[in-house]
Amino acid sequence: MKVSVIGTGYVGLVTGTCLAETGNEVICVDIDENKVEKMKKGEVPIYEPHLDVIFERNIKANRLQFTTSLDEGLEHGDIIFLALPTPEGEDGSADLKYILGVADEIGKKITSYKVIVDKSTVPVGTSEKVREAISKNTSVDFDVVSNPEFLREGFAVDDFLKPERIVVGTQSERAIKFMKKLYQPYVRSGNPIIIMDEKSAELTKYAANSFLATKITFMNEIANFCEKVGADVDKVRIGMGTDSRIGKRFLFPGIGYGGSCFPKDVKALHKSGLNSDYNFKILDSVIEVNATQKTILIPRIRTYFKNNLKDKKIAIWGLAFKPETDDIREAPALFIIDALLKEGAKIIAFDPEAMPNVERKLGSEISYAKDMYSALENADALVICTEWSIFRTPNFEKLNSNMNSSVIFDGRNLYDVDEVSKEVEFYSSIGR
Ligand code: NAD
Repeated sequence: MKVSVIGTGYVGLVTGTCLAETGNEVICVDIDENKVEKMKKGEVPIYEPHLDVIFERNIKANRLQFTTSLDEGLEHGDIIFLALPTPEGEDGSADLKYILGVADEIGKKITSYKVIVDKSTVPVGTSEKVREAISKNTSVDFDVVSNPEFLREGFAVDDFLKPERIVVGTQSERAIKFMKKLYQPYVRSGNPIIIMDEKSAELTKYAANSFLATKITFMNEIANFCEKVGADVDKVRIGMGTDSRIGKRFLFPGIGYGGSCFPKDVKALHKSGLNSDYNFKILDSVIEVNATQKTILIPRIRTYFKNNLKDKKIAIWGLAFKPETDDIREAPALFIIDALLKEGAKIIAFDPEAMPNVERKLGSEISYAKDMYSALENADALVICTEWSIFRTPNFEKLNSNMNSSVIFDGRNLYDVDEVSKEVEFYSSIGR
C-alpha cells in the first residue's frame, strides 16, 4: 500500500520503517531539514535498538523515502499517518497546534480519497477537530481514524512488528478495510485489531498511560513507606506481584517516571477531566507524588554531606529517562542534576546513548565522561539515575579505587543491599 507518515520522531520513524518492512511504499515527511538530510544519507537520527537494520534494508529496497515536502507526502499516500508532537500546553492540556496545523494543510492539498490516521496521543474529540479542519478547505472525500500508538521506546521495533493489540477508532467501513489490510501482517499470531469509535480509541491511550503511571507511583509510595517502617520493598513487590490480578510488571520503585509520554499524558487527561467538569483526584495525586519522587535522593545526599554540597564532585550514571533510549525528555536525571548544581556540586555524567542530547541542553554546565569508570575519578558520590544493563554488575574494586569515597545513591535499586554494602562505604536505595 502507499503510506505517508507526517512527523518522523520516535513514533513516526518507527512506524514508517516498520510499515516499509512488510512491503508498503512509505514516504516520511518532517519539517526538520537536518533530520531529513541525515535520513536521506542513511543515518538513523535517534537511538532505538534494531531500527538501523530495517531502516537500511528498506531504504535500499526503495520502499522508504524521506522529504520535507508535505505536498509530496500528501500526493503519495492513500493512508496518511500523523505522528506529530502533542506537547504539554501552558495549562497542562495537550497542545494540538501541530496536528491541527497539518490538518489545515491537508484540506488545502488533497485531490483524492485519503485515510488520515492520527497516531499522536490526543484528547477525546481531536478526530472531530481534525475532520473539521480538513473539511473546511476541501470537498474531497476522506476519513479520519484514531489509531493510538502503544510502542515503548527501547522496544519500539519489536512492539510495532508484534503488537499486543492495535486499536482502530473509526466508524467508516471504508477506512476499517484499509486499516485491517495494512495491519494484518503484524497480527498473524492472533493478537487483536480492536475496532471502536474514535472517542473511545483516543481515551484508551490516555487511560493506559495514566494507569501505568499510577501503578509506578503507587509502588513508589509503598517504597517510601517501607523506609519509614523498616520493610523491604523488594520483598513486598514480589509478594504482591505474584497475585495474577496485580502482575509482576511495572512494580519496580525508583526516582519517578519521566519520558515524553507519561508526564504530559497524565496531565492532559487530568486537564481533559476538568474541561468536562470531572476532577480526576487520583491523577492529581499521581502528578504531585511523582514530582517529589524525582528528587527524593536530594535530601539524602544533602544529609550525607552535612548540608554542604559546594564543590563536591558527583558522578551520575544514566541520563536517559529509561534504558535503551537516548530520549531525555522529563528524565529524572535532569531534575537531580539541576538540584545538585543549584547547591554548588560539580557533575560528571555518563550515559551510553543520551550524552549528546544532554550536551545540547546543558552544554558545559556539567562534564561528560567517556565511560562509566572514568566518570568516577575522584568523585565524592555516585548517583544512579537509569538502569542501563552495564551498570548492573560493576567492578567494585575499580569503583573503589577511582572514587574519593565509595558513596552510592541508587535511584533504580540495581544492587542487592547486603552484597553491595560489603563492597562500598555507603549505599542508599529506594524502599529498602
Ligand atoms: P517526536 O518529538 O520524537 O517527533 C515528532 C516529529 O514531528 C519531529 O521530528 C518534528 O520535527 C516533526 N514535526 C513537527 N511539526 C511537523 C510538521 N508540521 N510537519 C512534519 N513534521 C513535523 O515525537 P514522538 O515521541 O514521536 O511522539 C509523537 C506523538 O506520538 C506524540 O503525540 C506522543 O505523545 C505519541 N507517542 C509517543 C510515544 C513515544 O514513546 N515517544 C509512544 C506512543 C505515542
